[in-house]
Amino acid sequence: MRYTTPTFYKEFKCIGGACEDSCCDNWEIDLDDESLKFYLSQKGEFGKRIKACTRVRDKQFILNGKRCPFHNDDDLCDLYIELGEKSLCQTCTNFPRHIEEFENLKEVSLTMSCPEASRIMLAKKEKMAFECKDGTDREYGLKELKPVSRFAFWKKGHENKLNKPLFEKLIVSRELVYDILQDRRLHVMERALKVLVYADELQKCIDDDNYDAIDSLTNKYKDNKKTKITTEDKKIAEINNMLSIINMYEGLENIIPDWKGILQLGFDHLKSDNYMQDVKEFLDYYKDKEYEFEHILVYYIFNYFLGASYDNDPLTKVKFAIISYLVIFELDVARWAANGKTFDYEDQVVVAHAYSKEVEHSYDNYESLQLVLSAHPILTVDNICSILECYIRQ
Ligand code: SF4
Repeated sequence: MRYTTPTFYKEFKCIGGACEDSCCDNWEIDLDDESLKFYLSQKGEFGKRIKACTRVRDKQFILNGKRCPFHNDDDLCDLYIELGEKSLCQTCTNFPRHIEEFENLKEVSLTMSCPEASRIMLAKKEKMAFECKDGTDREYGLKELKPVSRFAFWKKGHENKLNKPLFEKLIVSRELVYDILQDRRLHVMERALKVLVYADELQKCIDDDNYDAIDSLTNKYKDNKKTKITTEDKKIAEINNMLSIINMYEGLENIIPDWKGILQLGFDHLKSDNYMQDVKEFLDYYKDKEYEFEHILVYYIFNYFLGASYDNDPLTKVKFAIISYLVIFELDVARWAANGKTFDYEDQVVVAHAYSKEVEHSYDNYESLQLVLSAHPILTVDNICSILECYIRQ
């Protein structure tokens, strides 16, 4: 098996009890069949405790409030203590790794929903790079189980078959998307805009079943095709669109307690009179840390773009990356304004990790968002371009 990972992948080490938002709280753990069988075969007092804490039909542990029933008062795992590290189920072993599978290739990243993984990624000033090597699940910290579902921590696998010819094209497209997103001569908003326009054209080639046209399209963008920015000032309409977008997140299932407050702050700030002035100031205040937003965009592209080889829809994957960036950006500006116009790397970790946990770790949230991104009239390419242009003009 080949494995593609970010080059910093192996720097990760769980900080356990020192973690401010343990992955053992606030969500339900799906148990793989092998682990469930092993747990149910345990005897004695601990075996009884496992049976009492397991909803076998749903293949899940029954949470103790919002906590995993085996997450003890010292913030340690009783399963690990009683049965050893190898006893951990696939979900717990693999976290915080995000896995995508394409036949004999696995792409594995560290998910931002783990604050420590966010810290590692966001601290890098250099451009995010990836490496692809032969290996085994064990070498990459993954539990060896077959079959491994598309999303390591979710229930469902790919329903569609891998479109191999498209996969080959998208590998090349994704390189171009990385190059654009990491072109530091441009502001991140401009890079996002350029990628969105490219993805829109790419989608048209796919919808027309014209895969041959993808090569020339990609070459055209490699040659630095300039993205036209309109001069018309439509600030109010764009702010209203952003309000609607933030509002969509309101309707998602709530995973972590702090999220509602973070979102509300963003919503209130968008409605404030000095919103645009704050955006302008924040862009200047945080300009030396633009690479954090670049990493967030590249992260979402790495995690999801190639998944379009299963559903033929790279445009929605790109929209997801850009909307995620825009929402995180908005929430950052709101936090900066509320903090007396200060904001640092740890604030970014709080917002980015909360966003990721809400959106990427609930199957329903992720799927609803994909549906909305592909069909909602506010989330057309033109509207998202207008929002980006509005910020570029600041
Ligand atoms: S969220 Fe990350 S650092 Fe925190 S306990 Fe889980 S794996 Fe460890």
